[in-house]
Amino acid sequence: MGRIIFATGNEGKMREIREIMADAGMEILSMRDAGITVNLVEDGSTFEENAVIKAKGVAAFTKEDIVLADDSGLEIDYLNGEPGIYSARYLGEDTPYEVKNQIILERMSGVPGEKRGARFVCAIAAVLPDGQVLVTRETIEGYIGERPAGKNGFGYDPIFYVEEYGCSTAELTDEQKNAISHRGKALRAMKEKLSSKG
Ligand code: IMP
Repeated sequence: MGRIIFATGNEGKMREIREIMADAGMEILSMRDAGITVNLVEDGSTFEENAVIKAKGVAAFTKEDIVLADDSGLEIDYLNGEPGIYSARYLGEDTPYEVKNQIILERMSGVPGEKRGARFVCAIAAVLPDGQVLVTRETIEGYIGERPAGKNGFGYDPIFYVEEYGCSTAELTDEQKNAISHRGKALRAMKEKLSSKG
């Protein structure tokens, strides 16, 4: 069975990725599982560029495996697309998300519903053993709610609401979130691309 190494140290993402890729017929390893430690500088200017930087950075350590990486984030219309590609670092890398989410809600205080639009974006890059690079990108549209809700998911999920369910993505089960999420859609698109490569 072939192996896919996913270039992330984020456990929340890893859990979603394992579920989404479960039927890919490949062993899914985190960087830690594969014993790879590398400090990657994400200095690209788009989600796609950063995903490719991460995937190539990890691919340098392995010859036989497919390396996948994602770069994702939250774009809030009212904040001119912030935090965007800086989502992980926004308001301080070590600041707990309860605090980050509270600060965002305060900045959005009094903003009417029609101006609360937001989306999660996810780019996935794959580096194949022969050096080929594949990229997919998907989004999920939603809005910033008035208050945090839910305990599932991670990061900005408690303040990101989706019309379809009328609740935050932290209130969805993993299965419900994966079916509609930016990461779920981008990973399934990548699964298709990889399977067409045989
Ligand atoms: P990355 O690890 O550089 O891709 O940073 C992505 C950051 O965007 C995460 O640390 C979260 O802050 C945010 N993010 C991306 N996807 C999600 C999601 O599905 N739910 C909540 N936050 C997310």
